[in-house]
Amino acid sequence: MNFNPVEHYNYRKKDIDMLVIHATPSADIIGSFNRYEVSAHYVMDLEGVITQCVPDHLRAWHAGASYWRQHDGDINSNSIGIEIHSPSMGQEPYNEAQIKSLLEFCKTKIKEHNISPYMIVGHSDIAPNRKPDPGIEFPWKRFADEGIGLWYNLSDARKIGTLSTKDALSLIGYDTRTDDMTAASAYAFMRHYIPHRVYVPEHKLDVISQVYPKDLESQRILLNDKVLNVVARAVAFKVQEAVLKERMQDKEKDFIFTASPFQEIIQENKKLYI
Ligand SMILES: [Zn+2]
Repeated sequence: MNFNPVEHYNYRKKDIDMLVIHATPSADIIGSFNRYEVSAHYVMDLEGVITQCVPDHLRAWHAGASYWRQHDGDINSNSIGIEIHSPSMGQEPYNEAQIKSLLEFCKTKIKEHNISPYMIVGHSDIAPNRKPDPGIEFPWKRFADEGIGLWYNLSDARKIGTLSTKDALSLIGYDTRTDDMTAASAYAFMRHYIPHRVYVPEHKLDVISQVYPKDLESQRILLNDKVLNVVARAVAFKVQEAVLKERMQDKEKDFIFTASPFQEIIQENKKLYI
């Protein structure tokens, strides 16, 4: 791997437990890092060649104001960030060489830092009101099929019972602390799991200024959408299943297996995140 150190980073305040995937239209990613006083641990060019800019044990400045599960605000401290060059910001398919390279990269980092599948996210998932990357063409399902992140079976939705879209998103990890942020999170969720339903402006880079619907009527329609609700519940089930599996593997925590372990975890998580 190439190494090209950049200027902006500092020390982590937490352990690594998360991987954040970004996309940028800039061909000179490292130049922009230095210009805008930001950074990521890794950058990838159009051919899929990865260059490391900040060592993993240090805190790169890629996430900005973000939220995911119990981590509020300082996701830079517990995450690894990779910035991928995509001229359309992921509104058009990535090069196959990039995807192949990223699959290998993710597998290595997941193993190295023991990252849970529900902690592998796009920048839009953690900063839904500000960021559209890595975009609707990022092949999340293909990654999940290779054990990187989670996908869903629609039939799982009913196993988790009746949940509002807001509560399902919150269980997954999205920021639902205000109505506006909930709508932004719902749209970010669609970018990730139902991308064909996301509106792409004619000029593709306009997605930066139209990250989510800001008018209240569109937000109301979005949050009452039945398809969105079913998919969000199905993903929430997968997340809870993964959490449950980890707890059962963790011998140190005295997790008691009950007849309805999912309900128990849902209740517990509701206290934490809702
Ligand atoms: Zn980003």
